Parts: sequence; C-alpha cells; structure tokens
Amino acid sequence: MNDVGYKEFGYDGNGEAGDVLRWALEKFHPKIAIACSFQHAVLIDMAVRINPEVRVFSIDTGRLPEETFECAADIENHFGIKIEWILPKQDSVEKMMRESGPFSFKESLDARRGCCAIRKVEPLNRMLSGLDAWITGVRSDQNVTRKETRKIFRDDAHGDVIKVNPLVDWNYDQIKDYVKARKLPYNSLFEKGYSSIGCACCTRAVESGEDIRAGRWWWENPEHKECGLHVRNWDI
Ligand code: SF4
Repeated sequence: MNDVGYKEFGYDGNGEAGDVLRWALEKFHPKIAIACSFQHAVLIDMAVRINPEVRVFSIDTGRLPEETFECAADIENHFGIKIEWILPKQDSVEKMMRESGPFSFKESLDARRGCCAIRKVEPLNRMLSGLDAWITGVRSDQNVTRKETRKIFRDDAHGDVIKVNPLVDWNYDQIKDYVKARKLPYNSLFEKGYSSIGCACCTRAVESGEDIRAGRWWWENPEHKECGLHVRNWDI
C-alpha cells in the first residue's frame, strides 16, 4: 500500500480538515495549490485563514457552464485572490474537434475519456509538474469510485506529487451547512438541482434520491464516473 506519501513527512494523515490543511500549507507552500472546480469555497475559506497567499488553480476545459465562471468571479472578489487558470492545448482540442466533432464524448467510454484527457488531465499534469502537492475537495461520499479515498497520499498518477484531500470524510450536508454558516459563494447551479458540477455538456441536475454524482456522465455506469483527475492510485 502506497502510504509513504504522508508518513515520510512525519504526519499520520489523521486530523480535522483544518489541521490537515494547515500541515500541508506549512509544509509545501508555495509549491502547493488548491484545485477548484467552483462548486463551493469551503477549502479556500479554510486555507486563506491559514495562509492568505494560498494558491488556487482551475482548469477551463472550454465546456464549462456560465454559472461556474460566475462562481469563480464571486470567489475572487470574496477572498481577494486571483485564480490561476489553465487551459487545454489548442492544437489537441482543434484536432479532436475536427476529427471527431463536438460530441465525440457520447460515442464511447474511450472517446469520453479521450476528451477528458485532452481538456482536463493534460492541463492538470502540466500544472502539477510545477508543484510538490495539490489539495482537492474530493469526498468519499461522492461516488463508488471515491469510497476509500485517503486524506493524504502520494499521487503517482500525476507525476509523483502529494495529494491532500482534507474534506474526504465530510458529507454533502456538512458542506452546505459550512457554506451557509460562513456565507460563502457557491455555484448557482446547486439551486437548479445540480449536486456535482463539471462540463456543461456532461452534467445534468439530479432527481430526488439519486447519488450525488448521478448527473455526471449520466449515460455511463457509476464505476466509470471519473475523468482522470482523481485516480484511485493509493494502493497500486
Ligand atoms: S467532462 Fe465531458 S466535455 Fe468535459 S472534458 Fe470530460 S468528456 Fe470532455
């Protein structure tokens, strides 16, 4: 099991979200950044109170909903921070669009993963190549693919960086309560029935009783609902 990622730094990986975040920021800043998909700002709110210079990055896939950019602007204004945007390589997107069209991701799982690889994974890897660690809002209640996610581990799938998931044992209601209590910006799509938000063309609102990520790639099986950003690689 690949647990060297945190033990080598003398931290057992346990603790409340704020403790984990403080440890990570004190250990790695400025070579650590929060990956934000602009669903809510819980992690950013915790992080700026530990280090106001905390870095936040996001991937503009070219297919994001307008509400996500509005949320990003709200977050920048609220915290007085500047988002580090990264974009896919133009030539890769052009090639995919010309050869396969704008909806190739619906044709097969491989085609969908190919689109995610170009629009999400390559930009992420480029960003992570300049970092020692990254922080995400991944939670184990989000999907079957994330059930056993750890708070801290060595993320071999993305160039051997440390991945920090402070909210891994939080649930959806805790996020909502925190956002409300702290009056934080959040993505207005949540008010339209969305419970997880990605690219506009691959995300829909969920019905009552459906899983949190049921609206992501809704035409696929639950065990496939990952784009390659969050790979289950802590025990391979
Ligand atoms: S979520 Fe959809 S549009 Fe976005 S990168 Fe993946 S397949 Fe492409």
